[in-house]
This record gives sequence, structure tokens and C-alpha cells, in this order.
Amino acid sequence: MATEKAIAETPKEFVCGPYRYTIDFDGEASYDYSYLGVCLNRSRRIKLDPRQSDTELPQTLLHEAIHALGGAYEIKEWRGHTTDAAGNVTDKIDLMASALLQFIRVNPKLVEWLSKTR
Ligand SMILES: [Zn+2]
Repeated sequence: MATEKAIAETPKEFVCGPYRYTIDFDGEASYDYSYLGVCLNRSRRIKLDPRQSDTELPQTLLHEAIHALGGAYEIKEWRGHTTDAAGNVTDKIDLMASALLQFIRVNPKLVEWLSKTR
């Protein structure tokens, strides 16, 4: 269960290409549809499950941001997930979110520099 502090500190929006996505927590929908997070590309919304742990939240949000990037930049492979015949997820979106999060965390100066460049 995410703490109230983690929920309060989670950004409420991000910009992705020409779009602005809102971020909110929706415990009922996430329970009904069984997700930690979902990216609703048509309505530009990210919904997160408040029952996930504080440590899961950043990776889930980054995972959903990758889906948003897929929508904004028309990268079909990032918009959704691919599965094999047995239903196992075959794309690397979750692995990419994990790798990017680790990279961002261990390189704050690089991230700060990147965010200043135009
Ligand atoms: Zn996903």
C-alpha cells in the first residue's frame, strides 16, 4: 500500500510530446481491471493503483510514461504489450522502465544537464 506521503508527492501531470497527461490514483478501477497503472492515450490520463508499494510507484509511472511516449511519437511497440501464444509478455517495456529508472537515479547530474539542454 502506497503511503499518503508517496501519493501526495507523486506528480499530478507530465508533458509528453505535444500532450499533457494527468496522473491520478484510482483504486477501484485498478482493482476491477487488475493493473498497477494504466495509460489512457485517448484521454491523456495515467491511473495508478494506490495499493502498490512506494517503491513500485516510480517504476509503474515510468512504465506508463513509456506507453504515453508510444502514443505521442507513434511508436507502436510502446503503446501496448505484446504476448506470445502462451500469453507471456514478450516486449521489454517493464525492463526498459526499470533500466531507465536505475539510470536516472545513479546519474542525477546527467539528468539535470539533459533537462537544461535544448
Ligand atoms: Zn504496460
